[in-house]
Amino acid sequence: MRIEENASLEPYNTLRVAARCRFLVQLQSLSDVDEFIADARFRHVPRMILGGGSNLLLRGDFDGVVARVALRGMETVRSDTGAVYLRAAAGEDWHTFVVWTIEHGYAGLENLSLIPGTVGGAPIQNIGAYGVELSDVLHCVEAVHTVSGEARTFDKNACKFSYRESVFKRGERANYIITAITVRLPHTPRYVTDYHGVRQALRDNDITEPNAHSISQAVCQLRRAKLPDPDKLGNAGSFFKNPVLSDARLTSLRRRHSQLPAYPQANGDYKIPAAWLLEQCGWKGRRQGDAGFYDRHALVLVNHGHASGAELLALADRARQDVLDRFGIELEFEPQII
Ligand SMILES: Cc1cc2nc3c(=O)[nH]c(=O)nc-3n(C[C@H](O)[C@H](O)[C@H](O)COP(=O)(O)OP(=O)(O)OC[C@H]3O[C@@H](n4cnc5c(N)ncnc54)[C@H](O)[C@@H]3O)c2cc1C
Repeated sequence: MRIEENASLEPYNTLRVAARCRFLVQLQSLSDVDEFIADARFRHVPRMILGGGSNLLLRGDFDGVVARVALRGMETVRSDTGAVYLRAAAGEDWHTFVVWTIEHGYAGLENLSLIPGTVGGAPIQNIGAYGVELSDVLHCVEAVHTVSGEARTFDKNACKFSYRESVFKRGERANYIITAITVRLPHTPRYVTDYHGVRQALRDNDITEPNAHSISQAVCQLRRAKLPDPDKLGNAGSFFKNPVLSDARLTSLRRRHSQLPAYPQANGDYKIPAAWLLEQCGWKGRRQGDAGFYDRHALVLVNHGHASGAELLALADRARQDVLDRFGIELEFEPQII
């Protein structure tokens, strides 16, 4: 187990906040995980589990131990008449896993192409994009309890997935280190191409019979055009969740804001694009010092250089307050605030 003291976390978070931690531990094997849990030095200090650092905002230095999950490996577990089961270790790069599944001839993850972060980070908020969520294909999550060291496999139901949520995000279940996931991809693919941008990108590329590869290419093209590359401009993707409103609340809001866009959900509720709300409040492209909102997408908080975590959070809070004052809608942060 590799341990570094007073380590910089700047290379390990995509918002590029220059925070430090007391200890940084690299978990490269399951025995590293056991060693970390048993180590007396880390028993009584705050602990944080880190993947790719693409869904968190470090508001300052972390006076505790950060355990970075760097477990590797991808394999086909089994195949039955209906589907193939593919397993990846938590430290694998998510997009690398997606590409690996496509190269092996399987479909199901293509719409989730190019989402930054690790395989282990993916179930935490049930990643989703372009009409697909991880929960659509997830079979199980393997994890180890950070206190007892007990290894446990969570089947899909036990993960309690919903929109950008899982059982691992809060409370007692947040005390698990995810070590691997297995996805179940049906042999007969069900391609999801009804998302407007995807359909258009396929049409632009003259693709009439899409497959996992061409959909993945289309998704990558869309994402590159819309979202900033964290290697060039620090960001954590969407900084706010899209709020979900009841039919009654939407009707009442539309009396004052007739243009309010809303997308019907299966349960009768409506999802409101948070980007639209922020744009209406003038936040798209707005900047204070090095903290700002991306000029091509109001949902993306960006670090233009040396913004601290506190400055980024203060700006996000101001934007959230503006939306609350104007629309009465309370936006929720998507990344974890550490
Ligand atoms: C440019 C950009 C675009 C994005 N687009 C999308 C998108 O389309 N859809 C979407 O859903 N998300 C998106 N995101 C957010 C992010 O990429 C995902 O949430 C990703 O799954 C986070 O993984 P990570 O490994 O970076 O997690 P981290 O940021 O390292 O951690 C996030 C949380 O998960 C916990 N965690 C991470 N790994 C483990 C583990 N192995 N065990 C236990 N806990 C763990 C951490 O403690 C923390 O609480 C985007 C981010 C960026 C920067």
